[in-house]
Amino acid sequence: TDDQQHYFRVLMTGAQGVGKSSIIDQFMTSEFLGSGNFNVSQSEEDRTITLQVDGEESTLEFMQSEDFQNQEECFQIDGFVAVYNITDRISFDIAIDIMKQIREEVGTNKAIILVGNKSDLVRKRTISQDEGRSAADSYGCKYIEISAALNHNVDELLVGIHKQIILKCDAN
Ligand code: GDP
Ligand code: MG
Repeated sequence: TDDQQHYFRVLMTGAQGVGKSSIIDQFMTSEFLGSGNFNVSQSEEDRTITLQVDGEESTLEFMQSEDFQNQEECFQIDGFVAVYNITDRISFDIAIDIMKQIREEVGTNKAIILVGNKSDLVRKRTISQDEGRSAADSYGCKYIEISAALNHNVDELLVGIHKQIILKCDAN
Protein backbone atom coordinates (compact mmCIF):
# COMPACT_ATOMS: atom_id res chain seq x y z
CA THR A 1 0.00 0.00 0.00
CA ASP A 2 1.05 3.64 -0.52
CA ASP A 3 -0.60 4.56 2.74
CA GLN A 4 2.05 5.20 5.37
CA GLN A 5 -0.43 5.71 8.19
CA HIS A 6 -3.00 3.13 9.21
CA TYR A 7 -5.83 3.17 11.71
CA PHE A 8 -7.21 -0.23 12.66
CA ARG A 9 -10.07 -1.20 14.95
CA VAL A 10 -9.62 -4.37 16.95
CA LEU A 11 -12.52 -6.06 18.74
CA MET A 12 -11.73 -8.24 21.74
CA THR A 13 -14.53 -10.75 22.19
CA GLY A 14 -15.20 -13.80 24.33
CA ALA A 15 -17.10 -14.82 27.43
CA GLN A 16 -17.15 -12.72 30.56
CA GLY A 17 -14.14 -13.32 32.80
CA VAL A 18 -11.77 -14.73 30.17
CA GLY A 19 -9.42 -11.76 30.55
CA LYS A 20 -10.27 -9.31 27.76
CA SER A 21 -9.86 -6.23 29.97
CA SER A 22 -6.68 -7.63 31.51
CA ILE A 23 -5.15 -8.21 28.07
CA ILE A 24 -5.99 -4.67 26.92
CA ASP A 25 -4.56 -3.32 30.19
CA GLN A 26 -1.32 -5.20 29.51
CA PHE A 27 -1.21 -3.75 25.98
CA MET A 28 -1.67 -0.26 27.42
CA THR A 29 1.28 -0.63 29.81
CA SER A 30 3.61 -2.59 27.55
CA GLU A 31 7.14 -1.29 27.33
CA PHE A 32 7.76 -3.49 24.38
CA LEU A 33 10.67 -2.52 22.19
CA GLY A 34 10.90 -5.42 19.82
CA SER A 35 13.70 -6.47 17.57
CA GLY A 36 14.56 -4.32 14.59
CA ASN A 37 12.74 -1.13 13.81
CA PHE A 38 9.85 -1.63 16.16
CA ASN A 39 8.44 0.85 18.61
CA VAL A 40 5.24 1.24 20.58
CA SER A 41 3.41 4.14 22.23
CA GLN A 42 0.04 4.22 23.94
CA SER A 43 -2.81 6.60 24.52
CA GLU A 44 -4.63 5.42 27.62
CA GLU A 45 -7.65 7.70 27.17
CA ASP A 46 -8.70 6.45 23.76
CA ARG A 47 -7.33 2.92 24.23
CA THR A 48 -5.05 3.14 21.24
CA ILE A 49 -1.60 1.81 20.62
CA THR A 50 0.64 3.14 17.91
CA LEU A 51 3.25 0.86 16.45
CA GLN A 52 6.15 1.91 14.30
CA VAL A 53 7.31 -0.98 12.20
CA ASP A 54 10.01 -0.34 9.62
CA GLY A 55 9.02 3.32 9.27
CA GLU A 56 5.32 2.58 8.87
CA GLU A 57 2.98 3.74 11.56
CA SER A 58 -0.14 1.84 12.58
CA THR A 59 -2.60 2.80 15.26
CA LEU A 60 -4.68 0.04 16.81
CA GLU A 61 -7.85 0.93 18.70
CA PHE A 62 -9.07 -1.71 21.15
CA MET A 63 -12.70 -2.38 21.93
CA GLN A 64 -14.36 -5.22 23.78
CA SER A 65 -17.73 -6.92 23.61
CA GLU A 66 -19.10 -9.95 25.38
CA ASP A 67 -22.21 -10.62 23.40
CA PHE A 68 -21.25 -10.75 19.82
CA GLN A 69 -24.64 -9.76 18.39
CA ASN A 70 -24.20 -6.58 16.45
CA GLN A 71 -23.23 -7.91 13.05
CA GLU A 72 -23.42 -4.41 11.60
CA GLU A 73 -20.34 -3.40 13.54
CA CYS A 74 -18.41 -6.32 12.06
CA PHE A 75 -17.72 -4.37 8.92
CA GLN A 76 -16.05 -1.52 10.80
CA ILE A 77 -13.68 -3.87 12.56
CA ASP A 78 -10.31 -4.72 11.03
CA GLY A 79 -9.27 -7.49 13.39
CA PHE A 80 -11.02 -9.79 15.83
CA VAL A 81 -9.56 -11.45 18.91
CA ALA A 82 -11.64 -14.34 20.27
CA VAL A 83 -10.50 -15.03 23.81
CA TYR A 84 -11.18 -18.08 25.97
CA ASN A 85 -9.88 -19.31 29.31
CA ILE A 86 -7.85 -22.52 28.96
CA THR A 87 -9.46 -23.83 32.17
CA ASP A 88 -13.04 -23.25 31.03
CA ARG A 89 -14.59 -25.33 28.26
CA ILE A 90 -17.73 -23.22 28.07
CA SER A 91 -15.59 -20.18 27.24
CA PHE A 92 -13.82 -22.24 24.56
CA ASP A 93 -17.15 -23.24 22.97
CA ILE A 94 -18.19 -19.58 22.99
CA ALA A 95 -14.93 -18.56 21.30
CA ILE A 96 -15.47 -21.20 18.61
CA ASP A 97 -18.98 -19.92 18.04
CA ILE A 98 -17.64 -16.37 17.72
CA MET A 99 -15.08 -17.42 15.07
CA LYS A 100 -17.88 -19.18 13.18
CA GLN A 101 -20.18 -16.13 13.33
CA ILE A 102 -17.47 -13.74 12.19
CA ARG A 103 -16.59 -15.97 9.23
CA GLU A 104 -20.27 -16.16 8.31
CA GLU A 105 -20.60 -12.37 8.45
CA VAL A 106 -17.39 -11.16 6.88
CA GLY A 107 -15.97 -14.18 5.06
CA THR A 108 -12.27 -14.88 5.04
CA ASN A 109 -11.01 -11.35 4.45
CA LYS A 110 -10.70 -10.31 8.10
CA ALA A 111 -8.04 -11.24 10.61
CA ILE A 112 -9.19 -13.38 13.53
CA ILE A 113 -6.92 -14.57 16.30
CA LEU A 114 -7.98 -17.22 18.78
CA VAL A 115 -6.41 -16.60 22.17
CA GLY A 116 -6.20 -19.14 25.00
CA ASN A 117 -5.66 -16.97 28.07
CA LYS A 118 -4.66 -17.91 31.65
CA SER A 119 -1.89 -20.26 30.56
CA ASP A 120 -0.44 -19.80 34.07
CA LEU A 121 -3.24 -21.96 35.51
CA VAL A 122 -1.40 -25.11 34.49
CA ARG A 123 -3.05 -27.59 36.83
CA LYS A 124 -6.56 -26.43 35.94
CA ARG A 125 -6.04 -26.68 32.19
CA THR A 126 -8.99 -28.24 30.34
CA ILE A 127 -8.24 -27.24 26.74
CA SER A 128 -4.97 -28.54 25.29
CA GLN A 129 -2.87 -26.44 22.93
CA ASP A 130 -3.57 -28.97 20.18
CA GLU A 131 -7.30 -28.56 20.61
CA GLY A 132 -7.00 -24.78 20.55
CA ARG A 133 -4.78 -24.77 17.50
CA SER A 134 -6.94 -27.15 15.50
CA ALA A 135 -10.10 -25.14 16.28
CA ALA A 136 -8.33 -22.01 15.02
CA ASP A 137 -7.10 -23.82 11.90
CA SER A 138 -10.57 -24.98 10.99
CA TYR A 139 -11.76 -21.36 10.80
CA GLY A 140 -8.63 -19.99 9.13
CA CYS A 141 -7.57 -18.19 12.30
CA LYS A 142 -4.26 -17.71 14.05
CA TYR A 143 -3.78 -19.15 17.52
CA ILE A 144 -1.75 -18.16 20.56
CA GLU A 145 -1.73 -19.02 24.26
CA ILE A 146 -0.99 -16.22 26.68
CA SER A 147 -1.12 -15.26 30.33
CA ALA A 148 -2.32 -11.72 30.89
CA ALA A 149 -1.57 -12.21 34.60
CA LEU A 150 2.10 -13.04 34.01
CA ASN A 151 2.40 -10.89 30.88
CA HIS A 152 3.48 -13.98 28.99
CA ASN A 153 3.18 -13.84 25.17
CA VAL A 154 1.17 -10.60 25.40
CA ASP A 155 3.64 -8.60 23.28
CA GLU A 156 3.67 -11.48 20.79
CA LEU A 157 -0.12 -11.26 20.61
CA LEU A 158 0.03 -7.52 19.97
CA VAL A 159 2.54 -7.97 17.16
CA GLY A 160 0.52 -10.90 15.80
CA ILE A 161 -2.71 -8.88 15.65
CA HIS A 162 -0.95 -6.13 13.75
CA LYS A 163 0.75 -8.57 11.39
CA GLN A 164 -2.45 -10.46 10.58
CA ILE A 165 -4.38 -7.25 9.89
CA ILE A 166 -1.63 -6.03 7.53
CA LEU A 167 -1.58 -9.39 5.74
CA LYS A 168 -5.35 -9.26 5.19
CA CYS A 169 -5.09 -5.65 3.96
CA ASP A 170 -2.43 -6.55 1.45
CA ALA A 171 -4.45 -9.54 0.25
CA ASN A 172 -7.62 -7.48 -0.41
P1 GDP B 1 -13.09 -9.91 30.97
O1 GDP B 1 -14.43 -10.06 31.61
O2 GDP B 1 -12.94 -10.83 29.81
O3 GDP B 1 -12.72 -8.50 30.63
O4 GDP B 1 -12.02 -10.44 32.04
P2 GDP B 1 -11.10 -9.63 33.07
O5 GDP B 1 -9.94 -9.04 32.37
O6 GDP B 1 -11.96 -8.71 33.86
O7 GDP B 1 -10.55 -10.81 33.99
C1 GDP B 1 -11.42 -11.63 34.76
C2 GDP B 1 -10.62 -12.22 35.92
O8 GDP B 1 -9.62 -13.11 35.43
C3 GDP B 1 -9.91 -11.18 36.77
O9 GDP B 1 -9.97 -11.57 38.11
C4 GDP B 1 -8.48 -11.25 36.25
O10 GDP B 1 -7.54 -10.86 37.22
C5 GDP B 1 -8.34 -12.73 35.91
N1 GDP B 1 -7.35 -12.98 34.87
C6 GDP B 1 -7.23 -12.34 33.68
N2 GDP B 1 -6.21 -12.84 32.97
C7 GDP B 1 -5.67 -13.83 33.71
C8 GDP B 1 -4.57 -14.73 33.50
O11 GDP B 1 -3.85 -14.74 32.51
N3 GDP B 1 -4.34 -15.64 34.51
C9 GDP B 1 -5.08 -15.67 35.66
N4 GDP B 1 -4.75 -16.60 36.57
N5 GDP B 1 -6.10 -14.83 35.88
C10 GDP B 1 -6.40 -13.92 34.93
MG1 MG C 1 -13.92 -6.72 30.61
